Amino acid sequence: METVILGAGATGLVLALRRSLRGDHVTLIEKETLPGGLAAGFEVEGTWLEKFYHHIFTSDKAIIQLISDLGLGDKLEWFSPVTASMVKDSIYRLDSALSVLQFPPISIINRLRMGAAIAALKLTANNAYYEKTTAEAWLNRWMGRAAADSVWNPLLRGKFGDYAPEVSLAWFWARVHDRSAKLGYVRGGFQLVYNRLEQVIQAMGTKIEYQTTAQKIREGKNKKLIIETSKGTITADKVISTLSTAITLQLLPTLPAFHRKYAAVNALGAHCLILALQQKVLPNSIYWLNITDTSMPFLAAVEHTNMVPANDYKGSVLLYLGNYLPMEHPIMHMDKEEILKLYLPALQRINPAIDSSWIRQSWSFAAPFAQPVVTCSFKNQIPPHKTPIKNVFLANMFQVYPHDRGQNYAIAMADTVANMLD
Ligand SMILES: Cc1cc2nc3c(=O)[nH]c(=O)nc-3n(C[C@H](O)[C@H](O)[C@H](O)COP(=O)(O)OP(=O)(O)OC[C@H]3O[C@@H](n4cnc5c(N)ncnc54)[C@H](O)[C@@H]3O)c2cc1C
Repeated sequence: METVILGAGATGLVLALRRSLRGDHVTLIEKETLPGGLAAGFEVEGTWLEKFYHHIFTSDKAIIQLISDLGLGDKLEWFSPVTASMVKDSIYRLDSALSVLQFPPISIINRLRMGAAIAALKLTANNAYYEKTTAEAWLNRWMGRAAADSVWNPLLRGKFGDYAPEVSLAWFWARVHDRSAKLGYVRGGFQLVYNRLEQVIQAMGTKIEYQTTAQKIREGKNKKLIIETSKGTITADKVISTLSTAITLQLLPTLPAFHRKYAAVNALGAHCLILALQQKVLPNSIYWLNITDTSMPFLAAVEHTNMVPANDYKGSVLLYLGNYLPMEHPIMHMDKEEILKLYLPALQRINPAIDSSWIRQSWSFAAPFAQPVVTCSFKNQIPPHKTPIKNVFLANMFQVYPHDRGQNYAIAMADTVANMLD
């Protein structure tokens, strides 16, 4: 069977592996120059670094198993880095029950309410009530307005902008419930996992066409599917698209009812400015700093080298300044010098000593359709893996609900969809 898979991110690569193991002749079509998709890296001082900050959690069983199966288990290391929040120009640790109880911006009663609400989400299963309630309404009610407004509501607002009041509690529940304090990282970069997968599937006969953009999928003669790409056409018996639903719908023949139902889901783009610096920026070796002040031009400052030693990058301190933005937002399209000009004064609010002489190098990365907006109606708008076009399948991050997108869920979904093709 000739199987064409669109996209060589985590989902596409694992689908290629599973289908090759079943004897399919697989071709992967990928518009970029290397595997890994949103989790792909670039080289900093000879070591891969993700374009967007990445780590995994102890609950991420599918990716932990895959890393081990690929013989990279010895590279997966676990860290307990510090997470903190910036509230009105002050920085407070907020990553454990104890730190919640000591969280200065709110009263002791509100700290107890914050702790109880988070514990409730951690200890309960997702349910119909969570699915029809918004995160904001639930937090305001059960955590109390003062506690919710100190951190969580501004973070929802920072991440989802005007969509924030519509975000489902089920999405927020999954973020709290699925995540561990311990964070896993593949020393040398997650790119090592994707490079190894590429090696394995190529050895099994999978062809990977890089720098090739899928442009159309149509039905041909004798039940064959024709995939038009920027480099010509390919014929297949089955096609699996791992591209976002909106992009996949543009490739398929017009399916009015399917388009109406599934194209309406909103999504945001992701942007990261990465700085390589000569010294540490965040105080107290903080790895992850949530910014709750919406006047700041970025949502999170992530000092990667406060988790992974800077020695891995010849001593460079690596800092991500991350944002989720509408895809048409100027930052998604500005050049890195302009963005740096905008971000540097904000960075000086975090560390007044920093100036441009600290910065050795910088990079800017933007990705469209990087964060689905999970509202209470989202569940009914998850497209099925089988599309109305026979033998065309869909497997993407819009289908891992209620979990937030993540490599683990991409890999688990790839296993499910691979089984559906038999
Ligand atoms: C800012 C950010 C932070 C994240 N942090 C984490 C984290 O800490 N831990 C974690 O586990 N996950 C994290 N994720 C999520 C994780 O990266 C994704 O869930 C996962 O990589 C999705 O894999 P995928 O293969 O489904 O999709 P993608 O990685 O999006 O792969 C799709 C592929 O299709 C290609 N493509 C697109 N259009 C075309 C076309 N027309 N023709 C051919 N190819 C095309 C793309 O280039 C891409 O390679 C993060 C994501 C973002 C954006």
